[in-house]
Amino acid sequence: MPIKQTPLPKMLKKAQEVFNRWIRERDKDKGCISCGSEVDHAGHYYSQGHHSGLRFNEINTNGQCLRCNNFLHGNLINYRKGLVKRYGEAKVMLLENNNVNKVKKWTRVELQAIIQEYGKKD
Ligand SMILES: [Zn+2]
Repeated sequence: MPIKQTPLPKMLKKAQEVFNRWIRERDKDKGCISCGSEVDHAGHYYSQGHHSGLRFNEINTNGQCLRCNNFLHGNLINYRKGLVKRYGEAKVMLLENNNVNKVKKWTRVELQAIIQEYGKKD
């Protein structure tokens, strides 16, 4: 009998939940990265779907308000301004330059590590 493992998509979802919760907690007093309003979500600068390698990147993911995250599709111009303010131009440029070919298939071991690490941080 093979050991029953949690399906990978389920693990990915769990890891993203844990990571996003940690981001919201980290940023709750900083306000939305794009407009400074109250933080409702963890918003990705590069979308997690198209840039899967940046799903769990701490600079690529920041607290955002509902309006910027959902209705303004990330409010990316102001998101970038917020990133520069928070992390500095050099780090933002590094993120942008590293963004190429960032499609990544996360493994079970990696996802487990993320769930453990970010789960215990809060
Ligand atoms: Zn906002």
